[in-house]
Amino acid sequence: MAHLEITQLSKRYGAFVALDGIELAVERGEFLVLLGPSGCGKTTLLRAIAGLERQDEGRIVHAGRDISQLSPALRDYGIVFQSYALFPNLSVADNVAYGLNSRRADRRLVRKRVEEMLELVGLPGSQPKYPAQLSGGQQQRVALARALATSPDLLLLDEPLSALDAIERVRLRSEIRALQDRLGVTTIMVTHDQEEALAMADRIVVMRGGRIQQVGGPQEIYRAPGNDFVADFIGRGNLLDATGAGPQHVRVGDLLLRCAGPASEGHRQRFYVRPEDIRLHGTLDQGENSFYAHVLKCEFLGAYSLVTLQAPTGDGRPLVAQFSSNYLCGREIHPGATLRVGIPAEHLRPLPEAA
Ligand code: ATP
Repeated sequence: MAHLEITQLSKRYGAFVALDGIELAVERGEFLVLLGPSGCGKTTLLRAIAGLERQDEGRIVHAGRDISQLSPALRDYGIVFQSYALFPNLSVADNVAYGLNSRRADRRLVRKRVEEMLELVGLPGSQPKYPAQLSGGQQQRVALARALATSPDLLLLDEPLSALDAIERVRLRSEIRALQDRLGVTTIMVTHDQEEALAMADRIVVMRGGRIQQVGGPQEIYRAPGNDFVADFIGRGNLLDATGAGPQHVRVGDLLLRCAGPASEGHRQRFYVRPEDIRLHGTLDQGENSFYAHVLKCEFLGAYSLVTLQAPTGDGRPLVAQFSSNYLCGREIHPGATLRVGIPAEHLRPLPEAA
């Protein structure tokens, strides 16, 4: 049996279905990330695991114990919220000690545990400070120390990085992952940031509309998306409606393209190509699958640029290409320009067909 098992979990708010038949098994020591767009139900799922939200149907079993109907206080977890949620009138020491004090632990032991926890999160000696004297990142480290102080069996993180600036977010995400590796605590984190999910997770649960779309390791989710939503949401796959045109060829709009895998004559299927797999002519093998496209927009992002292209791919949906700034050096890329681009056959991939 998995460490945490969720079976047929559903939650409604009036007529609105926030969670719809969630089935999920989390292994001991795993770092699982719930990922999806705003409103997909990921926070509701985390709060149901914490007992802060009561499901309408379904079961949650943690370490062999059915916790579905238990109050939050009787469940064994620590939780960190997006908004730090520290007590502003308590010192850092008292914030970290909060869970321990409410368990009436010995004062000397509490002091020692607080010291250990603050060292663990890189804030040694900050016991006498107050939350208002700390940066956002430091407050979130204190919140993490507080969540871990009681040695919970499960760590729940609800968008813990989203209130931080970009640099602090990247720093803290690797600190949290390293800490989790060290402690081996089973962790479930909610985020809507795909890069964060790919960087931190052992496995990602992609959600949409209260349902699970796909569960898998970051590489698996990225390289073998299970449907068009996952292909688009993670890594911005350009979706293409294709019709089979003989062995390993498809027709996409006005284009006849060679593709990865067989394509049977006349069969309609959805393919995708990643922005970074679209090539500029000159970096292609002998113009493979090449065509002309008009630049609609070009966003320079430092190491690379995102170029939105109007291409003869049929449905009028623009293609987004990512070109390394090294390739672009000296080239005129501006709205209205015409570029010759191509899609190497191995990067034109079919999506599994809906069951
Ligand atoms: P976000 O990243 O925006 O928080 P989320 O995926 O975490 O998104 P949830 O907070 O789980 O989404 O909410 C799922 C849906 O349920 C949303 O459409 C939300 O409006 C709705 N919802 C959540 N809580 C309530 C509530 N107490 N009453 C009514 N609707 C709710």
